[in-house]
Amino acid sequence: MPTDPYEAAQQRIEEVGRRLGLEKGLIEILKHPKRELTVNFPVRMDDSTLRIFTGYRVQYNTALGPCKGGIRYHPDLTLRDIRALAALMTWKCALMELPFGGAKGGIPCSPKEMSLGELERMTRRFVSEISIIIGPYEDILAPDVHTDDRVMAWAMDTYSMNEGFSVPGVVTGKPQSIGGYERRGVATARGFLYVLQAAFADWGIVLEGSRVAVQGFGKVGFNVARLLQEHGCRIVAVSDSKGGVASSAGLDMEKLRLHKLKRGSVLDFPGSKRIDEDGLLTSECDILIPAALSHVIRRDTARKVRAKVVSEAANGPITPEADRVLEDAGVLVLPDILCNAGGVTASYFEWVQDLQYFFWGSGEVMERLRDVMLGAYRRTADVSKKEGVRMRTAAYMVALGRLAEAYRLRGIFP
Ligand code: NAD
Repeated sequence: MPTDPYEAAQQRIEEVGRRLGLEKGLIEILKHPKRELTVNFPVRMDDSTLRIFTGYRVQYNTALGPCKGGIRYHPDLTLRDIRALAALMTWKCALMELPFGGAKGGIPCSPKEMSLGELERMTRRFVSEISIIIGPYEDILAPDVHTDDRVMAWAMDTYSMNEGFSVPGVVTGKPQSIGGYERRGVATARGFLYVLQAAFADWGIVLEGSRVAVQGFGKVGFNVARLLQEHGCRIVAVSDSKGGVASSAGLDMEKLRLHKLKRGSVLDFPGSKRIDEDGLLTSECDILIPAALSHVIRRDTARKVRAKVVSEAANGPITPEADRVLEDAGVLVLPDILCNAGGVTASYFEWVQDLQYFFWGSGEVMERLRDVMLGAYRRTADVSKKEGVRMRTAAYMVALGRLAEAYRLRGIFP
């Protein structure tokens, strides 16, 4: 049984590839990243010592277009995690019918323990080191865990300084005033809502009044929770890296955001009780939304999940074994590559505008986002129904089918 996300990713490709009847060699191509760059580089810390950091960029697949994917700063990050996340980006872009391949990158580090100056110097040196393989037509960066619009502005500026002119299209999720769309977390949440609404309509489930538990209170978790609250859901549990809080009467998301801003965590929110990670994932709720890290729902936890729907806002939060447990228990699992694709779709729109130096009106991104998300949902739901497979398998079938078609048409070089 796979113990790490990359092995799990490979196993899923193997299963779906066989189901689609893909040639063995093609399955092998899809199981492996195209290119990986590891860089070791020094950063001058505030106490004037030099520290060596290691950074990675994995370009998983380019059959459908330039690579696209976020950069993550997290102490536990490994190259294998990044490979798995880069693979997910590949399937996600294919499912959404975006003209992108998939990539991911990052640095194992503790951003919360670094000063702003140290973060900036680390980001700039990292981007400079990987600039030999990134670019607006090669590989486009975006925010992910513990990276935001400010980090993206440094990344865009660093690449541009090395080129000698401004290249806004090398990065998405930048501040709006430099050609960006900084509300990427909002777009991810919006896309998530569109998928949930469409799935609930198909399954005859009423969204309004549903009890929701959300793991992670960052760019995605907070925006998803707030949006669902606006749509009549009751948010009964929320957690961040320090722990969780619960209230069967419901938590007010705006007040909780202000509390976290002041206290650095959701803990001790007035009127709530403390819960741990297991308590959050096994909350008495209707919809469970993991919106933090990978492989948090493992077999043992899955057996205790009480939600009827698990909708993945995070990338790869459920292990394959846990996925099977949930399926056997009749839980509706809406997969990451569908649910959280609003972010990369908004990034695609940002990139298109950057390349054209022509910027759309304010409502246009959300309007177009809805069409793309609902189109992908419909393709997935149709395959799920026709083939009698769960939504994750269906989403992978659509995505891998599109990649297989690209390989068939392009052929294998030379
Ligand atoms: P973020 O850094 O803004 O937030 C991450 C949150 O997770 C923080 O609140 C952190 O405290 C929390 N967290 C970390 N470890 C935790 C734990 N063990 N238990 C509970 N909470 C924990 O990151 P983000 O951009 O919101 O990304 C969250 C997830 O969504 C990631 O899996 C990311 O790949 C995925 N995602 C992000 C986007 C986007 O637009 N940012 C798009 C698609 C998918």
